[in-house]
Amino acid sequence: MEIRVAGKEDGGDGHGLREGEELSFFYPSSEWDFEQGFECKCAGRVGGEVRCIGTVKGAKWLDRGVLGKYWVNPHIWEMVGETETETEEKLQGTTKKTEEVGEDGKDEEVELKN
Ligand SMILES: [Zn+2]
Repeated sequence: MEIRVAGKEDGGDGHGLREGEELSFFYPSSEWDFEQGFECKCAGRVGGEVRCIGTVKGAKWLDRGVLGKYWVNPHIWEMVGETETETEEKLQGTTKKTEEVGEDGKDEEVELKN
């Protein structure tokens, strides 16, 4: 099992963990949904940059953009893909049409868009 200790931005040059650097682990890189979340104690010191995610609850609860900043296991990206497909299907299924009275008094059909 491989455990990356540096985010993409930190590890972009492939240096990995350097002497004196704090060891941290990005839980959402391998965990989808925690039964019980917890507050991260790193105080935002990730590679000298403030970008702590705060409450750690799993990848399910994070923005795709946030996840993209880290190295994330392929199975997590698969879960992200499945969730996005489900959401799209739900949105398409719930697209409603509503009646609205136009200026000329005639009823106009208006499609609601997100
Ligand atoms: Zn943190």
